[in-house]
Amino acid sequence: AEKKRYLVGGNWKSNGSVTFVRDMINNVLNKMKFEESKLEVVIAPMIIHVPSAKAMLHSHLHVCAQNIAAEGKKAQTGEVKAEQVQDFGLKWAIVGHSERRQHYLESNELVAEKVKRCQECHLTAIVCIGERLEEREAGQTHDVLKQQLDAVKASVKDWSRIVIAYEPVWAIGTGKTASPEIAQEAHEFIRKWIQGSVSDAVANATRIIYGGSVSDANAESLITQKDIDGFLVGGASLTEKFGTIVETVN
Ligand code: PEP
Repeated sequence: AEKKRYLVGGNWKSNGSVTFVRDMINNVLNKMKFEESKLEVVIAPMIIHVPSAKAMLHSHLHVCAQNIAAEGKKAQTGEVKAEQVQDFGLKWAIVGHSERRQHYLESNELVAEKVKRCQECHLTAIVCIGERLEEREAGQTHDVLKQQLDAVKASVKDWSRIVIAYEPVWAIGTGKTASPEIAQEAHEFIRKWIQGSVSDAVANATRIIYGGSVSDANAESLITQKDIDGFLVGGASLTEKFGTIVETVN
């Protein structure tokens, strides 16, 4: 099979300041060297930092929304619609991050609505899925992943605008990375789900990226796994380690 383009995303979450954004972009991000034919890099700043990040980042670095509203029509104070993300010139959005599922009670159905909005506005959705620790310990990992994937399936017409991020909740922000074997096993399960539920061609073409305490120290052992096509990076994306991760993937 043809080698896919890798994808590395930096999710800044609710971190950062005007000064951080400027310094991180000038000192780290705009200095990274990678081959665009091999690797795509996207950065997801907090929404108020998006305009300056977009203006400052070199054009081969793409800005990504961290979230979008599920509802496209009614007035919703505090929400950002997919249309507005598109109108501003962004092509990417993270959907269903585990922090949103956990703390803002986003259900599989709501995540599916958001995926639909992304498709309607031609945004590439980085759809986050992953099991919680108690689900893994109870042997439910595959069931959870299947439910999360089944829920979004009907929202997707164009799979070229979908990236799946496997982010085991127990590995996010905890410093406990999934071992390469555990991550690979889950990625293979996800790829098989795509194969069975969509098609072989889509399964081969869809990027499945890993997230959960990715750092400069573990990027190499993860990216060499067969079904890992890149990373979604939280904590390390706020530091110069992100540059090392990008160069490792490249
Ligand atoms: C994330 O926010 O998607 C993430 C994986 O965070 P961290 O790298 O800090 O675990």
